[in-house]
Amino acid sequence: RKLGVALAGLGKYSSRQLGPALKETKWCQLMGVVTGSKEKGEQWSKEYGFPVKNIYSYDTMAQLADNKDIDIVYVVTPNGLHAQHAIAAAKAGKHVICEKPMANTVAECDAIIAACKAAKVKLSIGYRLHFDPYHKELMRLAKEKDFGAFTTMTGDRGFIMQTKVWRADKKLAGGGPLMDLGIYIIHGACMTANGVAPVAVTAQEHPKTKPEMFTDVEEGINWTMEFPGGATCTAQTSYQHSADKFRAEGPKGFIEFKEHAFTYRGMVVETSRGPLNFTPPNQQALQMDDFANCILTNRNTIIPGELGRRDLVIIEGIYKAAATGKRVEIKV
Ligand code: NAD
Repeated sequence: RKLGVALAGLGKYSSRQLGPALKETKWCQLMGVVTGSKEKGEQWSKEYGFPVKNIYSYDTMAQLADNKDIDIVYVVTPNGLHAQHAIAAAKAGKHVICEKPMANTVAECDAIIAACKAAKVKLSIGYRLHFDPYHKELMRLAKEKDFGAFTTMTGDRGFIMQTKVWRADKKLAGGGPLMDLGIYIIHGACMTANGVAPVAVTAQEHPKTKPEMFTDVEEGINWTMEFPGGATCTAQTSYQHSADKFRAEGPKGFIEFKEHAFTYRGMVVETSRGPLNFTPPNQQALQMDDFANCILTNRNTIIPGELGRRDLVIIEGIYKAAATGKRVEIKV
């Protein structure tokens, strides 16, 4: 049988990406939901053909323990609730996929990892770009050094937030665009550094043009990561400009993600040897199938909780660097 997935949190990412992707998966299928709205749960049960008994609320997650239809809980709630929901899923004996950022803080990441270990369940983070052909080519170039070892990386990611939502609320989001969007550049730069974390960071917050919207989180931030061996990544992220770019350069060439660098489709990617043209796959379907296959064959995921935790260590370092104006060493 296919493994059963329950999506926890039925917002935009679940309804526009993960639900539809679960119609394309080979090794898993949508078998339940965790939602604050019973009506929404019933609509999903009709659309996806799972029994209404498999609709849970955030308060009844412990009862998942008695439900054999569900093997995996995929946590897709606001960042500040990931720890609570991932830990509840692990305690109910379910394998866990947790969306990015893994949690608001490193301490919460540690609590999720410990809960999954104690419950002997697998844990993965929703870093879907590991299954994207352009990003796989980036990792191949980094490993095989076609352009020499990459020395200079740049990234820019942002969108214009029109009205204040949970993403600009520190309790629910953990921070501003760095948590939500900058994390893609951080993760991508570590991929480009062959999975190694930076040794130090510096950062400056952008002046606020909308202080009424960004009361307790940054509106935008610039930062630089220094990698072992001297490579650097200089980046910015903002909720007041739109961008989605990444570039890595070595002594013998470059790869440049010119548009939609970190999204699902429409990527425009050039290299010093010419443009790349891959057919975009369904990243989310591949990602969920790979995790299901890890469970079925008892192998380790390539995207364990430790990678989510590493990125939070870097993010906490960047916030500290911006707050103090000092270079902050990163110890993962
Ligand atoms: P969203 O606002 O569309 O949905 C959030 C869901 O959580 C809603 O259904 C909401 O009802 C529910 N929720 C439960 N408790 C809540 C509370 N106290 N306050 C507010 N909402 C609450 O957000 P989204 O875009 O679906 O993002 C959800 C998560 O998925 C975030 O962690 C985000 O970073 C992540 N995400 C990842 C990707 C990706 O490409 N990997 C893309 C988008 C979002």
